[in-house]
Amino acid sequence: MPKLEIANEVAKRRTFAIISHPDAGKTTITEKVLLHGQKLQKAGTVKGRGSKQHAKSDWMEMEKERGISVTTSVMQFPYRDGLMNLLDTPGHEDFSEDTYRTLTAVDACLMVIDAAKGVEDRTIKLMEVTRLRDTPILTFINKLDRDIRDPLELLDEVESVLNIMCAPITWPIGSGKSFKGVYHLLRDETILYKSGQGHTIQELDIIQGIDNPELDERIGVYAEELREQIELVQGASNDFDLEMFLSGDLTPVFFGTALGNFGVDHMLDGMLEWAPKPQGRPTDAGEVVEPEAPGISGFVFKIQANMDPKHRDRVAFMRIVSGRYEKGMRMRHVRIGKDVRISDALTFVAGDREAVDEAWPGDIIGLHNHGTIQIGDTFSWGEDFRFTGIPNFAPEMFRRIRLKDPLKQKQLLKGLVQLAEEGAVQVFRPLMNNDLIVGAVGVLQFDVVVHRLKSEYGVQAIYENVQVYTARWVYCKDEKKLDEFRRRAEHNLALDGGENLTYIAPTRANLMLTEERYPDIEFHKTREV
Ligand code: GDP
Repeated sequence: MPKLEIANEVAKRRTFAIISHPDAGKTTITEKVLLHGQKLQKAGTVKGRGSKQHAKSDWMEMEKERGISVTTSVMQFPYRDGLMNLLDTPGHEDFSEDTYRTLTAVDACLMVIDAAKGVEDRTIKLMEVTRLRDTPILTFINKLDRDIRDPLELLDEVESVLNIMCAPITWPIGSGKSFKGVYHLLRDETILYKSGQGHTIQELDIIQGIDNPELDERIGVYAEELREQIELVQGASNDFDLEMFLSGDLTPVFFGTALGNFGVDHMLDGMLEWAPKPQGRPTDAGEVVEPEAPGISGFVFKIQANMDPKHRDRVAFMRIVSGRYEKGMRMRHVRIGKDVRISDALTFVAGDREAVDEAWPGDIIGLHNHGTIQIGDTFSWGEDFRFTGIPNFAPEMFRRIRLKDPLKQKQLLKGLVQLAEEGAVQVFRPLMNNDLIVGAVGVLQFDVVVHRLKSEYGVQAIYENVQVYTARWVYCKDEKKLDEFRRRAEHNLALDGGENLTYIAPTRANLMLTEERYPDIEFHKTREV
């Protein structure tokens, strides 16, 4: 593969996900972002995409036929001269470990904050996950068409709660009914807002220069107020710094309203201009595989099970790290040590079937999986390395699982271990008794597991409550100390699906006490798959 061709394809791609608390506006922003993409498609500015409008429905048909719903998981769309891959992070009820792991497959994140609410729980958790790889973060403060909190106070909160510096790129003028638009600090221009235009791409109404008298004519007293505020903001906040953004220490902040489709394009401009192109990934050999490596490589970060019992197949989502995917090519499935031909991978350019035969670093392809692919699996051009950094995350909810028919214990265990390998859920077996404890990050996973145990393994299981606060993977370099810990804390220890030692803490206080009492033992919130 000519390196230049790869470099060109890589240079135009941006692969990102949205992190936000439910209801902050993730879905609405996704819609608007696609609208921006579609506009380009219709206008034919992206080569070869002009006459492919029929393709979208074909794609939907195929989806229906296969009984899977994958298009919303990954959305590829053109933006200006770039190509964006937006990975969906399951939210609300379907919030799960997949949400966390998707963040390992992107190179940047968009954080969406509700301007009336500020930093909320879910955002804090997701930010914690992005910190594992110091992923660069852009911030969109949403719902400016409503009454909001003081913007400076919002930035303060982001800085102190999330421990990241803020560099405002746009600044709001008014809010709620009197939201007038934003001032772009880097371009020195005011972009005026018109309400009721959310379903379209708005005609831009721009006034150059903050001292332009036209500004006073158009927005009256708000103009003088803006000038004062900008002076204050420039004194009180950080300037944008590309390096600090790339190291995850500083976030550029944009204001707008997703519903009104205002400001989303400023954010996208920032994403295209500043966010890193698809990055290489480290391997267990201690090297980084760069996009221009000798051939195809990638890792599986998510497996989407099919809830329709008539269709058993599942889709494994692979992030391409290097090389070009071509239909029908062979890849080394490293864990099982076999070369496999991939003839029917799915790609995710909804509305464009042309690209189905080809994909590049930063893209996601869907592999049909009949049980041979697990979360964390590496595919390569023939070498036996594995990508690292695709962790399991300590579950936050726990239930004891029990059989209706006690004779089927073996099937239950087999089913649970397989579902755990797939990343649907985690299973823990206490050292001291025969309980089976299921742990999940989101509550929907419990239902998924019972459903699949029944349809795929023929076992009927039910849940009981269990007093568990959290789980931590236990490590210690000193065998003797680990043995001692194992003896003394035995009643709180368990093995996970992969036979790894885990501390099951009944309460938060218990965990803190145990960590204090055993300073030589490491208690980890994540574990490499
Ligand atoms: P998600 O849960 O983060 O995906 O949030 P949604 O995109 O579903 O938005 C939650 C609610 O907020 C919906 O009723 C949206 O219509 C509304 N919403 C989203 N963005 C805005 C906005 O900019 N202004 C207003 N007023 N409402 C918004």
